[in-house]
Amino acid sequence: MYILLMGPPGAGKGTQAERLIEEYKIPHISTGDMFRAAVKQGTELGKEAKRYMDAGGLVPDAVTIGIVREGLAKPECAKGFILDGFPRTDEQAVALDDILNGLGIKMTGVINIVVPDADLVSRVTGRRICKNCGATYHVIYNPSKVDGVCDKCGGTLYQRDDDKEETVKNRLNAYHSQTVPLIEYYKQKGVYEEINGKQDIDKVYADVKSALESRM
Ligand SMILES: [Zn+2]
Repeated sequence: MYILLMGPPGAGKGTQAERLIEEYKIPHISTGDMFRAAVKQGTELGKEAKRYMDAGGLVPDAVTIGIVREGLAKPECAKGFILDGFPRTDEQAVALDDILNGLGIKMTGVINIVVPDADLVSRVTGRRICKNCGATYHVIYNPSKVDGVCDKCGGTLYQRDDDKEETVKNRLNAYHSQTVPLIEYYKQKGVYEEINGKQDIDKVYADVKSALESRM
């Protein structure tokens, strides 16, 4: 099962990935993890990436692609993977096809979990986190018993800067401008599956699973 997982911030991609890992026993691979592994192992590309990151700059496409190439060639990816956070551009999508061809792998499906922006904004802006123990709440979907106070430890709940409305809207705009071309690319390849993320978690997962299994 070779899966590319897409979805805007707040669409519940993480939860769906956890279930897929559990069910199909395949690794979840994000570009962040591949970067950390390459840097830790001190591969040539890892060293190069680290130089850019230490300088606070963007890692060039060629380096990112090289790290993904190394990461996907590892034995633990041979039977399948959930790729997340890559590709982000058309060029990267073309490079990914090339990497997969080289490995003799055919993508099972590109799963995009779609939720309307207005719903995402309310999901994300409603999140509250305990300063003390890190427990998460939602003012509508999972409120604490006492407003602003953690049920578990009595700590103060706060809203992360990342979850504030302006930030969320900016992140969503960036996400859309980045993914629209990719959606077109994968539609043309015939591997694209759109999943309605505005349903309960179990139903979303059932749809993800049936979309993937119908493609095997
Ligand atoms: Zn707490």
